[in-house]
Amino acid sequence: MPAASTNPIFSMEFFPPRTPEAEASLAGVIERLAPLTPRFCSVTFGAAGSTREKTFETVLSLQSLGLEGAPHLSCIASTRDNIREVLMAYQAADIRHIVALRGDMPSGMLSAGEFRYANELVAFIREETQDHFHIEVAAYPEMHPQAPNLRTDVQNFKRKVEAGANSAITQYFFNPEAYFRFLDDCEKAGIDIPIVPGIMPITNHTQIARFSEMCGADIPRWIRKRLEQLGDDREGIRAFGLEVISDLCRRLLEEGAPGLHFYTLNQSEAVLGIYRNLGMLIPSA
Ligand code: FAD
Repeated sequence: MPAASTNPIFSMEFFPPRTPEAEASLAGVIERLAPLTPRFCSVTFGAAGSTREKTFETVLSLQSLGLEGAPHLSCIASTRDNIREVLMAYQAADIRHIVALRGDMPSGMLSAGEFRYANELVAFIREETQDHFHIEVAAYPEMHPQAPNLRTDVQNFKRKVEAGANSAITQYFFNPEAYFRFLDDCEKAGIDIPIVPGIMPITNHTQIARFSEMCGADIPRWIRKRLEQLGDDREGIRAFGLEVISDLCRRLLEEGAPGLHFYTLNQSEAVLGIYRNLGMLIPSA
């Protein structure tokens, strides 16, 4: 078993709020999570740039609180000029960390734009801005849903690393073995950047089933069965989810994961609960 990572990196993901109420709620969430001192906080980017301004605003408000903001940037249905404009705005605001993605084609949109895959976006960011940004990319321990097989997906992941990605965040998963096997495959393929597991809290059965269906994350049978048995018992689901995800995080860290990236879904309780269970909660948080 590999040794535990000595200095794990913890980061958190938020999405840009759409209403004044959601904005106020997110401000409270960030206030509760900031004492956990995440290394950076990433902010998602809506399909085809639909949240471009809001993503930027949310990152700026994180930066104003002394947190490192890392906007996601997806390239599908975009032009080089669009992306260049966004990069220039980010540089001017002294943003130095970015999550570079292909994104998914919004339904009804016909033109894929000037980028086909995320490796082309990473190469473009490097061409335009050299080493200004630390670039994160996405990785898929259980395979991207459109990939023909895991081997091809790992080769495609490698293209992003060769184009200049510094580190990766994974799609969430509940099978730690899938992550460790993926790390082995990446090592064999000569990929040597940190690959940080993305952690999705389980707080709601319908929601987790829907997300997992969309992104191809496998919900192990024993978790599915237990969630079915819990039915409408929201508290029971939260308690069970917290136990399962805390155990997953503990095992990942013990076996050498370089950190954890929390998909907060703009909620603080589950992340605080996981930190508490891992003994990482500072007394004032
Ligand atoms: P790519 O790396 O381009 O891969 C997409 C598919 O194409 C894969 O099947 C891959 O095997 C294949 N492929 C890649 N390169 C090549 C190539 N050169 N030739 C042939 N095939 C290739 N979506 C959003 O809209 N907004 C977000 O903010 C967002 N944040 C995310 C954050 C994380 C950490 C993760 C894991 C996902 C996120 N997503 C987001 C979802 C993501 O956009 C989708 O999973 C999308 O389908 C793939 O994006 P990618 O960057 O991984 O694409």
